[in-house]
Amino acid sequence: MERTIAAISTPQGNGGIAVIRISGNDAIKVADKVFFGSKKLADCDTHTVHYGFIKNEKGEKVDEVLATVMLAPKTFTREDVVEISTHGGSTASRAVLDTIIRAGAYMAEPGEFTKRAFLNGRIDLSQAEAVIDIINSTNELAQRNALSQLEGSLSKEIENVRNELVHLAAQMQVTIDYPDEDLEDITTDDIRNVAHDCKNRVNKLLSTADSGKILRDGIKTVIVGKPNVGKSSLLNSLAREERAIVTDIAGTTRDVIEEYINLDGIPLMLIDTAGIRNTDDTVEKIGVEKSIKSIEKADLVVVMIDGSGFFGDEDVEVLHATKNKKRIVLINKTDLGQSKYVEAVKAKANGSVVIEVSAKTGMGLDILADEIRKVYNFGELAREDSAVITNMRHKTALIKAGEALGRVVEAIDMNMPSDIASIDINIAIDALGEITGETVSDDIVTAIFHSFCVGK
Ligand code: GDP
Ligand code: ZN
Repeated sequence: MERTIAAISTPQGNGGIAVIRISGNDAIKVADKVFFGSKKLADCDTHTVHYGFIKNEKGEKVDEVLATVMLAPKTFTREDVVEISTHGGSTASRAVLDTIIRAGAYMAEPGEFTKRAFLNGRIDLSQAEAVIDIINSTNELAQRNALSQLEGSLSKEIENVRNELVHLAAQMQVTIDYPDEDLEDITTDDIRNVAHDCKNRVNKLLSTADSGKILRDGIKTVIVGKPNVGKSSLLNSLAREERAIVTDIAGTTRDVIEEYINLDGIPLMLIDTAGIRNTDDTVEKIGVEKSIKSIEKADLVVVMIDGSGFFGDEDVEVLHATKNKKRIVLINKTDLGQSKYVEAVKAKANGSVVIEVSAKTGMGLDILADEIRKVYNFGELAREDSAVITNMRHKTALIKAGEALGRVVEAIDMNMPSDIASIDINIAIDALGEITGETVSDDIVTAIFHSFCVGK
């Protein structure tokens, strides 16, 4: 029998309220030892909320609270659950938690509530992972996708493919075990067709992984350009708060500054870099080296040129250093007047889109968003029900399954005996089962839930 666990499920710090979750067979019993309201929680209907006080062993009031009673199986963990809303702030919530622990509950381990939801069959492993993705999501699109994964968009497709393969494997087994029986034998054509179809479906899921990574992490966008062109101003303007240091002195952004932003629904991880130019200043040199490294790692590079200044060798050098990247070129400070360098920049931009903007007034930044949207297909990502692969573990398992199914098709095309195909079909079945948790090792399950925080 699972022990009854408890933890503070709201984040640390001073909120208006904090919520302590108790889950397990003794949840109601434990709560009734410390909760004093108009009646015992054991006598209350499921999914009802009650006002009262938490009192310690000495009968002293610890906090004034609301207790929510939720009886199994319609709870997050499928066990009996009591949620106690205390006053916010860590003092009140910790004191209440301590009282609950002394009354017989155990401190929950990281992710233990979600782990129980998985072990009790309420959600599969990919759905449990979606819970953490929802909590950690950096943007609305990622959050929506994780929610759809929690609702089973990915699990359903994986289960459908896996079930077809399980059925196929069973049919093949019957054909091998009872070759003389009157059962309808499965032909190699049938096997090839199913394997081929399943492989296509696996590959279709895999094809979403690149967008999935962007959805999860944002488009890694690096702003480069020589000092004082307005890189930090652009980041500030997009993030709408003074994060990066903006000054008139060339070379003040010494380090790389990162910021997650949502540009008209596009998740960007913006990186402001030190200006790229030849320098003897050691501190600045480190910044410049970092800039060059961050260009290499970027999904998208925004090159900035000061349209009011002088378009010279250093700008051309930056354009040259970024010519093989996905790139958008901005001519900045156009609020000071039409730049005389537009044609010259276009001539050196190697076909990249060139936009005239003002980081100061925000002019042209909507066009920047449109151009980014053109480069990445966000319409597709925003579709509600489509499964998008955002998780490295899922991607690895899908690659394994796809390769095994490819070998099945190959083996049949080469007229190899069907027990060889059978081995690979089982490899694919297991790989897909790793995603939903059906064939995953205990170690992996433990590792996944340990990456959660306590209280989740
Ligand atoms: P960085 O070195 O490239 O990061 O440049 P900063 O963002 O620190 O900007 C350098 C100077 O240019 C500051 O004085 C900014 O106020 C100014 N600046 C930046 N963008 C614009 C713009 O669009 N218009 C005008 N008029 N000034 C700007
Ligand atoms: Zn700067």
